[in-house]
Amino acid sequence: MSTDCIFCKIAAGEIPATVVYRDELVTAFRDIHPVAPTHILVIPNKHIPSTNDLSEADQPLMGHLLGVVPKIAAQEGVVQSGYRLIVNTGPDANQVVMHFHLHIIGGQRMKYPMG
Ligand code: 5GP
Ligand code: ZN
Repeated sequence: MSTDCIFCKIAAGEIPATVVYRDELVTAFRDIHPVAPTHILVIPNKHIPSTNDLSEADQPLMGHLLGVVPKIAAQEGVVQSGYRLIVNTGPDANQVVMHFHLHIIGGQRMKYPMG
């Protein structure tokens, strides 16, 4: 855990968030500034700053993180309608919180093209 990381504190239950899924490896909660009717962030409970910091040892964790997405999508009622998964990494992607997180965005038609 990184003591100055807001998402570590959410994973530890030290600051409030609307948690929609939690297990020993990952936590999912509603984004505080949703950009769509469904906007969930899924994070590893362990502090990993960004995609660039993933190690080979993190592969089962990341597989698990992706694996919980359909369960959360089902809870949110967006399995059939669809959703977008986004992982912002670094300055050009406007990554703001330096704790790896996967955005699940849905409940409305997404804009395209991306970028
Ligand atoms: P990024 O640009 O780093 O991919 O996105 C970070 C996301 O975290 C943003 O969508 C922002 O609204 C969300 N966020 C930042 N601080 C908090 C917080 O304290 N609680 C929650 N639930 N979401 C947060
Ligand atoms: Zn963290």
